[in-house]
Amino acid sequence: MTTPVPSTARPLADRHLLGPGPCNPYPEATLALAAPLLGHLDPEFLAIMDETCDLLRLAWGTDNRRTLPLSATGSAGMEAAFVNLVHPGDVVVVAVNGLFGQRMCDVAARHGAEVVPVDHEWGQPVDVERVVSAHPSPKIIAAVHAETSTGVRSDVAALGAAKGDALLLVDAVTSIGGIELRADAWGIDVGYAGTQKCLGVAPGLAPFTINDRAFERRVERPSSWYLDLGLLGGYVGEASGAGQRTYHHTAPTAMVASLHAALQRIAAEGLENVWARHAEAGQLLQDGLEEIGLELFAAKGHRLPELTTVRVPDGVDSADVRRYLLEKHDIEIGAGAGQYASTVWRIGLMGHNARRDRVALVITALEDALAHA
Ligand SMILES: *Cc1c(COP(=O)(O)O)cnc(C)c1O
Repeated sequence: MTTPVPSTARPLADRHLLGPGPCNPYPEATLALAAPLLGHLDPEFLAIMDETCDLLRLAWGTDNRRTLPLSATGSAGMEAAFVNLVHPGDVVVVAVNGLFGQRMCDVAARHGAEVVPVDHEWGQPVDVERVVSAHPSPKIIAAVHAETSTGVRSDVAALGAAKGDALLLVDAVTSIGGIELRADAWGIDVGYAGTQKCLGVAPGLAPFTINDRAFERRVERPSSWYLDLGLLGGYVGEASGAGQRTYHHTAPTAMVASLHAALQRIAAEGLENVWARHAEAGQLLQDGLEEIGLELFAAKGHRLPELTTVRVPDGVDSADVRRYLLEKHDIEIGAGAGQYASTVWRIGLMGHNARRDRVALVITALEDALAHA
């Protein structure tokens, strides 16, 4: 009797990642993962880390010395922001206009905040007036710059101008490296992001920035050891260039090298050129979708170029179309979020995918899928 031998050689799937993230990384970011691995305290690696923090300051539009890649995905950036800033009973006003605003409320509450949610209709931008008048003296006002669940951009600069004494905490996961972001000029006190959206890197790191004003109001001994910014500062960020690093955790050196390569690529292209490339691709996609008779979901005038939400036509099965795109065209797009799971699709053109050829590809494939639906 012969024992069946399991097949070990499955052909590699090579997808066009045109959903809400991850996206296809920049080639430079993928190549960096193939370089020989460095130790996390190797001087060669520390130079890469220092440059990465410098390049992150460029991407954030900040001079904050505490700007660093946290060793976890974007949600850990959210967790780090709240665990380091919320003392029990602190009032946190959260602008909620989608899934990630909701998540902020949950995370802030778990860390003992008295959360004041300001709910908005999904698909609409944050109403700055309502948010800043929701409470007379909040410690923190929190908002999502680019709501990936709805494809909407909110006016962070206006929030910063009206925040008063509150700290402004911003989710920039889907905006960094895709649309205009100016942390210092806009009054962002603390911000977190992710690598797998417009920065064009695999998921795994959370670029984080915090200014002195917010750092002075932090929790001395936060309930998270791993995300304690005071401890992390001895290893990365504040210690930049000092050469006096102390071990905290083993930095994911390959991921940092990959982020470094993507940021260098973005800097070489020019950050504003990268924003313009996203704007152009997103506009082409949105025009093209309307031309084939589809209806966009996000409010006009507030649409993100890097993430487009489009209504599923009546009588069309959302999941069938997504399956067809994946099987016949190797294209991944996203389902809608929350209550829009089966009535909206989400199409991302992030980082390396923010290109005209990707627009043509996804529109042609979608027409084909709809013809078969
Ligand atoms: C993707 C995303 C997150 C969460 O990031 P993960 O990498 O999935 O942990 C948070 N906020 C926004 C706006 C996002 O798009």
